[in-house]
Amino acid sequence: MSFESLGLSTELLRAVAEQGYDQPTPIQRQAIPIILQGKDVMAGAQTGTGKTAGFTLPLLQRLSEKPAVKSRSPRALVLTPTRELAAQVGESIATYGRYLPLRSAVVFGGVKINPQIEKLRRGVDILVATPGRLLDHASQKTVDLSHIEILVLDEADRMLDMGFIHDIRKVLALLPDNAQRQNLLFSATFSNEIKQLANRLLNEPQLIEVARRNTTAERISQIVYPVDKGRKRELLSHLIGQGDWRQVLVFTRTKHGANRLAQQLEKDGLSAAAIHGNKSQGARTRALAGFKNGDIRVLVATDIAARGLDIDQLPHVVNFELPNVPEDYVHRIGRTGRAGREGEAISLVCIDEHKLLRDIERLLKQPIPSQVLTGYEVDPTIAAEPIQNGRNKRAGGGGRGGAQARHRGGRNGSGNNGQPRAAGKRRPAGRNGNSRNRAPA
Ligand code: AMP
Repeated sequence: MSFESLGLSTELLRAVAEQGYDQPTPIQRQAIPIILQGKDVMAGAQTGTGKTAGFTLPLLQRLSEKPAVKSRSPRALVLTPTRELAAQVGESIATYGRYLPLRSAVVFGGVKINPQIEKLRRGVDILVATPGRLLDHASQKTVDLSHIEILVLDEADRMLDMGFIHDIRKVLALLPDNAQRQNLLFSATFSNEIKQLANRLLNEPQLIEVARRNTTAERISQIVYPVDKGRKRELLSHLIGQGDWRQVLVFTRTKHGANRLAQQLEKDGLSAAAIHGNKSQGARTRALAGFKNGDIRVLVATDIAARGLDIDQLPHVVNFELPNVPEDYVHRIGRTGRAGREGEAISLVCIDEHKLLRDIERLLKQPIPSQVLTGYEVDPTIAAEPIQNGRNKRAGGGGRGGAQARHRGGRNGSGNNGQPRAAGKRRPAGRNGNSRNRAPA
């Protein structure tokens, strides 16, 4: 099937052709004709499936076919959970819409609000936003959402995970009645919470589901390297150097852990950067750009920061620490082996993480092959420590490599040995219950 047969205009086909896409992806094949008909859609699709073009192309076409009622107010609103995803959707809109006279803007927190206000004042047709900053604009009356014709919730499950449900409700209250607009909901998973949101939001939605990319795990070879916590960094540097990996995405459980690891890798002579919610937007954008263009070899990320990142053809993903939530493992390793290429997902697993590993294997319904690397055998005298909310109780854990850590048989003896580990909560960023105050990680 070609893009031409989907009913897209010549302006859009031209922009698509310039991207070098020969064929629509399955989600695009299904979503584009339905959205062009003006129907509401509930789509199950993850990052990497081509979902962004799947909603952006028909959205652009529908707006370009109908004149605006009010010239300065946005006509389409795309809500995303993270700043990175907002920026990427904004880029897609600019790319696919380059031959159409539609104006777009992206607003998210962590950057100055005044340039956004200025842009909104000049008038935009399509607004891409994270919920918190959008509500800031709404409260300052710098945006008028009463003329929205099309609403897209992108990665709706992530928005709920990140505690944005109240913000989403507030945004919905500012829009025209939902029967008067077209509503598109994209989500990788369909929990009961998502279904409730969909019931509230969508009118007779068409359901679209494409195979979960991550279940096609044949493209991804997975391996566990058992290793003591204090030697993980040393092993990681060794693997990167020995394998001559040019681009590797490394996951840690905490922001602090990400920072520390990036600094240590730099000391090992590997160009590295950390990406997480405490970084300024500028730093995050620079890190991502550096990683994409090859200046940065190792990008260390927390789970939430990595969501929605459009990084293609990643050959190696490393779980420096296993996630507390088994589903996050699936999301993490889904970053590799894209577009039919082979990918390798490596997990460095210390004794504290055995329960997390078992939970992941239960979810995958298969064991992950494990291999002890010569020189990195685990020290049998080290006992497990509990992991709570992403952090080990042991002070300074995970940081020290080499001989110092290897002989650290006498740990601080916190007295927790042998106790069951708390598997941690879903929201690593959630110390503060108020989601408006919580920067997307
Ligand atoms: P997404 O799932 O929207 O994050 O898209 C993942 C990647 O697929 C992006 O880098 C797009 O540029 C790319 N892409 C989208 N549509 C197509 C297509 N029809 N053919 C090839 N690549 C595509």
